[in-house]
Amino acid sequence: MIILKSPREIEDMKPASQIVADCHREVAKLIKPGITTQEINDFVARHITKLGGKQFTKGYHGFPAETCASVNDVVAHGFPGNRPLEEGDLLKLDIVAEYDGWFGDSCWCYAVGQISPQAEQLMKVTKECLDIGISKALPGNRLGDVTSAIQQHAESNGFSVVRDLLAHGIGRSLHEDPSFEHIGVAGKGLRLREGMVLTIEPMINQGTFRITIDDDKWTARTADGKLSAQFEHTVALTQDGPLVLTAH
Ligand code: MG
Repeated sequence: MIILKSPREIEDMKPASQIVADCHREVAKLIKPGITTQEINDFVARHITKLGGKQFTKGYHGFPAETCASVNDVVAHGFPGNRPLEEGDLLKLDIVAEYDGWFGDSCWCYAVGQISPQAEQLMKVTKECLDIGISKALPGNRLGDVTSAIQQHAESNGFSVVRDLLAHGIGRSLHEDPSFEHIGVAGKGLRLREGMVLTIEPMINQGTFRITIDDDKWTARTADGKLSAQFEHTVALTQDGPLVLTAH
């Protein structure tokens, strides 16, 4: 069941999303060669608390940390750890916060120092996929208008779209209906309505779209070991167009 939010409830959702946004703004300054993803995670965990929010992911079905930190071929749900980041790494840092019973969710892709031109291009196209998807998130459109635009942009640039990890509705729960892939057909699928709040979070791979899951049951990797990038925002569909609640 899709839970539509009133304009007032969308206002109420802003603080949780803005905590996530502020975490990204602040943590971005720390991301450089030598820092570990555990240190990055611990900074974000403290920052969420400092801003009055609550973390959600640690303990969620056994997930061990307050953020997902996914490096290079790790697509999503990577565990923060003690390996220092190296020049050229791609870090996807996914942050969730809860405030006053509402959730915000945003993943951002960070270049660690100087990255390869190929990695740079993947990051650029993935960010464009997010922006294009958001621009189609209009009441009256179909979900396929959002997802096909993402797929078309990724594939026309020679990249692939991960299928097995889904975007979702968000509100008083982190995961609400609908769940959806970032591929589709324009004009098809669910009719978008004012008051829907969705994550749009394309995961775009350099090679195959196929992924594997590590024995830890969480860490999702590209099946061919090539790079993956992701950008994610929490987006409210309003009368005036898409409102990016996690803008940072
Ligand atoms: Mg997320």
